[in-house]
Order: sequence, then C-alpha cells, then structure tokens
Amino acid sequence: MEGDSRRYQRQREAMVKNQIEARGVSDPKTLAAMRRVPRHLFVNEALMDQAYNDHPLPIGEQQTISQPYIVAMMTEALQVDEDDRVLEIGTGSGYQAAVLAEIAYRVYTIERNRTLYQNARKVFEQLGYYNVIPRYSDGTIGWREESPFDAIIITAGAPEIPKPLIDQLAMGGRMVIPVGSSLSQKMIKVVKDDQGIHQSELGGCRFVRLVGQYGWRDS
Ligand code: SAH
Repeated sequence: MEGDSRRYQRQREAMVKNQIEARGVSDPKTLAAMRRVPRHLFVNEALMDQAYNDHPLPIGEQQTISQPYIVAMMTEALQVDEDDRVLEIGTGSGYQAAVLAEIAYRVYTIERNRTLYQNARKVFEQLGYYNVIPRYSDGTIGWREESPFDAIIITAGAPEIPKPLIDQLAMGGRMVIPVGSSLSQKMIKVVKDDQGIHQSELGGCRFVRLVGQYGWRDS
C-alpha cells in the first residue's frame, strides 16, 4: 500500500504481537485486520512515528484516536462476520471504521464534528475503503434508514445506552459501548436475541464524551 513503508509494517507487527496478542486478543480476523490497516495514515504527519505506540493520540478538535489494544478488543467483542453490516458512532480519525471494514461487508460511520468527518472521508477514499459509508450527524439517534445492524460500536463514552441504538440492533446483533461518567466508563457488550437484551462488562476504559440527543448534552 502506498505510503506504508517497511518500517511502519514492522512497527505494526510488533504492535499486534506485544500489545494486542499479549493481552489476550486471539480472533484471527481481528488480528489480520490490525496487521493490515496503516494506522500511521490516520494521524497527523507529525505524530506518524508514534502511531503504533501503546496509547491514544490526539486527532484535533480535542478528540483522540483510541489505543490500538482498545480498537482490537472492541473489534473482537463485536464478532463481525464478512456478511455483516456494522454501524459506528464516532468516526474520529476513521481508523476503527477501517479495521471493521477489513472484516465486514459494509461499515456505516457517523461523526458529529464536521472537520473530523471531512478528514476521515478523504482518508477512506485515498486508502480505497469503499465499503465505509461516512455521515455527518448526531449518531446517538442512529441511522434508521439503514437499520437494523448486525453490530453497533460506539467509540465515545455515554451516560447510558442510547435507546435508538438498541432498537436498531438486529436480532442476534452485538453492540459494544463505553458507559459511565465523563471521566471513566465500563465497556459494556449488549447482545440482542428473542429473549431480549443481555449485557456483560468487558472492563474499565476512558473515552471522550458522546455528545448528542441521547448522550451528554452540548460540548
Ligand atoms: N473511532 C475513532 C475515535 C473516536 S473519538 C477513531 O478510530 O479514531 C470519539 C469521536 O466521537 C469524536 O470524533 C467525537 O467528535 C465523536 N462523537 C461524539 N459524540 C458523537 C455523536 N453523538 N455522534 C457522532 N459522533 C460523535
């Protein structure tokens, strides 16, 4: 892939081995996607050499690209299949959407910040992620016209699970969402079946706020 030098490929291999496999992520599809997506092309040029380090990075507009391990852990938890249609809330840099696009049939991704939305659009096009469909909107109300979704991922911290997103989850669908205060959250996995909704906890985390009608109010 253009702009993906051997040096970055080596850093990416090390990232997968030392940060992601070492912490217990084992799903082959997730690991393969993390090995493929050129994470350094989703950050500002000045930060490229830090792109494969074990922490989040600023992407402008006071937002961040998540730590690689968190991206992998959430991707694995979604149990994405090649036929699946996935909804992401919080496009940010576009990196998580690209990782999912390596596995899924199609990824719908919503961003409320216009600058980040526009930047991410360009990156998807430049890198050929034609199965990612970006939208500039409040993602807490979901994307009703394209629902239901086999998997929904929210990459910003919510005070509670937005009701519209539960409604737009397909039968048999999976959702992962950080829920809690604006300082710390628990990663919640939601599964929907004919009995209803089942929730489990995947551990602590810290995300920027999900701001919108069914999230935190204003910025
Ligand atoms: N998934 C991103 C990281 C996201 S950071 C990546 O891979 O880089 C969280 C993002 O959620 C921010 O860009 C923020 O603007 C966005 N966001 C917050 N509330 C939102 C909402 N209601 N709808 C859509 N995007 C939202």
